[in-house]
Amino acid sequence: MRVFRQAKWPEPIIFELGDPGRIGFMVPELEKEILEIVGEIAIPEKIRRSSPPKLPELSEVETLRHFVNLTQMTFGVENGPLPLGSCTMKYNPRIAAELAFDPRITMLHPLQDEDTVQGILEILYNLQKWLANIVGMDACSLHPAAGAHGELTGVLIIRKYHELKNQIDKKTEIIVPDSAHGTNPASSAMAGFKVVEIRSAPDGNVDMEALKAAVSDTTAGLMLTNPSTLGLFEENIVEIARIIHEVDGLLYYDGANLNGIMGYARPGDMGFDIAHINIHKTFSSPHGGGGPGAGPVCVRNVPVIPEKNIYLKDLLPGPIVEYDKEKDRYYIKWPGRYSIGVLKAFFGNVIPLVWGFIYILALGPQGLKEATEQAVLNTNYFIKLMEGVKGYSIPYDPGRFRKHEVVLSAEPMERDVGVTAEDVAKGLLDAGFYAPTIYFPLIVKEALMTEFTDTETKENIEKYAERLKEISDIAYKDPKEPKKWPQNTARTRIDNVKASHPRYVTPTWRVYRLRKEGKLGALK
Ligand SMILES: *Cc1c(COP(=O)(O)O)cnc(C)c1O
Repeated sequence: MRVFRQAKWPEPIIFELGDPGRIGFMVPELEKEILEIVGEIAIPEKIRRSSPPKLPELSEVETLRHFVNLTQMTFGVENGPLPLGSCTMKYNPRIAAELAFDPRITMLHPLQDEDTVQGILEILYNLQKWLANIVGMDACSLHPAAGAHGELTGVLIIRKYHELKNQIDKKTEIIVPDSAHGTNPASSAMAGFKVVEIRSAPDGNVDMEALKAAVSDTTAGLMLTNPSTLGLFEENIVEIARIIHEVDGLLYYDGANLNGIMGYARPGDMGFDIAHINIHKTFSSPHGGGGPGAGPVCVRNVPVIPEKNIYLKDLLPGPIVEYDKEKDRYYIKWPGRYSIGVLKAFFGNVIPLVWGFIYILALGPQGLKEATEQAVLNTNYFIKLMEGVKGYSIPYDPGRFRKHEVVLSAEPMERDVGVTAEDVAKGLLDAGFYAPTIYFPLIVKEALMTEFTDTETKENIEKYAERLKEISDIAYKDPKEPKKWPQNTARTRIDNVKASHPRYVTPTWRVYRLRKEGKLGALK
């Protein structure tokens, strides 16, 4: 049996540490010459605070210990396998961090004169071009901040397309399969569309009869991820594209699972018109607690009003980086008259974009293909290891080859002995593994959505499968045991109701203080 013990520090909140007046960092005094310049542009008196902000006052070593202790009570891809399905928690190569955090990148200001930022503009220009090539499209905007933001961008482009064609009154619906990520229907609704959900067929593809029944003149577009969240390649995609295009709808590609086909197949070639890319998934920049992501959106050269020379690319949000070949100079193009506009300040999240740029540059076309191969191989090796293990099943045609992920179900175990997917997840945590995504997609009962990505080694996948088998053995022998898990983590089992109930959620220091003073209900 694997032995794992997570550290457990009695760590207070940083505001409760330290002492007034304690100093961890000394700002050097400005030199006289600099002071002369800065003095003039110092913050005007009238917009200064009357009292300084209440910041924690700690020494350097106290600060360091605080954060190191916290990292020891959490789990990241630096600790072990983190196979959160669909989230694509790849290893984040250090070399990319080093370069993306170079002061020559981080110290740039978006309002700097173009002539002084030709380097970063060249990076962003090339990234736009490479991403367009990878998804088989013609133009990209790096502007959106993440996948969900890219989706909103995409459906706003769909809306604008129908507006410019004077048919938005009629085009009111977006079709979304029932295997979709929750952000798909949410983005469609935010853009003012009615969401029409269609079911998946028993083989995991979109049910074509349900699709045909749902499509009509009111169809504005369809959102789909391919491979799906079940890890299955949508085999009818060309036919689906034909059906949607026939009613002048647009196809949106949710690129969260691009790492399952990258280098092998391109959404643009399948008939998709618009796609987002999760830089923080497929192209390895950190996410979750690791920092902001980036969700570039690319479009195909679809005519909107060809007589007026308007194409989908004119609807993209900006700014976009262009290149003047004659002057050999990069420049910024702000959104034009047909663009959906500006959705975020300036260029989006530039650091993760640079990270993605370095990842693509380092791997090259062959390396990107190999990353895909490794991810797909890892999934299917894991499926082989799990074949016939009591308590688990693979819904939606277990015989079909999976791409980057697989959804196991703990339904047999739940039915036989009452041990659930959540219990299984806690059993994994207890052994020093991160749990898969559970209870998603919604179409699988007791779902354990598992994605090793290209990062994980053969040995780790074997250990993971072994632990799942061990959990099942324990569950069938003593079904009460799994209910006590986890024991070896910094926090034992969390009360799911309290954890999400507004009466207990404590998201900020202010709320924490109010709870502590008993003004907002108990602090537990
Ligand atoms: C992660 C994910 C999204 C949303 O992307 P974010 O970058 O997290 O906003 C959308 N669809 C699928 C299938 C995903 O896995």
